[in-house]
Amino acid sequence: MIGSPISHSISPAIQNAAFAACGLDAHYAAVEVAPPTLGDWVRQMRTPDTLGFNVTLPHKITIRAYLDRIEGDAVQAGAVNTVIVESSGEGLRLVGANTDTVGFRRLLQEDGGQTFANQRVLLLGAGGGARAVALVALQDGAASLWVANRHPNRGEELLSDLTGVRRATHTAALSLEGSEVQHRLAEATIVVNATSVGLASDAMPVDLTDVPPGCLVVDLIYNPEQTAFLRTAAQLGARTLGGLGMLVYQAAAAFERWTNMEAPIGVMRSAAQLALAERAQH
Ligand code: NAP
Repeated sequence: MIGSPISHSISPAIQNAAFAACGLDAHYAAVEVAPPTLGDWVRQMRTPDTLGFNVTLPHKITIRAYLDRIEGDAVQAGAVNTVIVESSGEGLRLVGANTDTVGFRRLLQEDGGQTFANQRVLLLGAGGGARAVALVALQDGAASLWVANRHPNRGEELLSDLTGVRRATHTAALSLEGSEVQHRLAEATIVVNATSVGLASDAMPVDLTDVPPGCLVVDLIYNPEQTAFLRTAAQLGARTLGGLGMLVYQAAAAFERWTNMEAPIGVMRSAAQLALAERAQH
């Protein structure tokens, strides 16, 4: 996995546990790669010994220039989080994919027991994580998608980039502050926090007082596993989901793409929880 900074990542614990459980002689490591060295690093990975790699901030968009092909949701999301080294008649090819969309959809379906179909969705944030959530909301037929961001122009850009996917969903970009976000919150059936507010802190991206009881509130943040945002939502009668499931499901989708084997989800989830608990002690 490449990124900068990268030392916080628990992905090595998740993937190495999966490789061990499946008896694979493979190793996953987190590597600090600064933006000016990205191209050189990627060139070194074009070997028959490499299954692939994950990509995180700040390389999810720039990596595309060094790949031979971009597939599936990575095309529409405009971001790659997984690279697969494929061998073909023409030699080795680097293929870019996005498994954040798969991870989020699976979180909603398997851990939340629902889909975006016909839902009124308030999405907080307009960064890489928010793009994956917005794409799934549009693909899966949300009735409304309101994107609230600190810099509202980034929400507008996000929606404009996804114009081709929109179908019948009503969309709007708004500010994270002010009365409009509170009106939308009161109407929402699903609220997703895809900002980094609440990461390793008790800060909250919006005031949740008006959240309707029974609304599903999701936080992409997985550290802490229960954010102040989710605790407050639960106290107000909402249903809640944390981001750890998404992390595990996107990792599972990458594992399956690299190995053509079924990912051991239970092993991966336990490894993620253990790695987070170990971090909390330090
Ligand atoms: P990103 O691309 O850097 O986007 C950050 C987002 O947070 C932007 O919308 C930014 O708003 C907003 N933000 C940052 N500081 C803020 C503040 N002080 N007040 C209000 N808004 C603020 O990051 P990302 O990759 O989307 O990640 C966002 C969060 O989702 C992170 O906590 C990450 O760990 C989590 N995530 C989890 C998963 C998972 O698998 N569970 C996957 C992806 C992301 P501006 O645009 O206005 O700066």
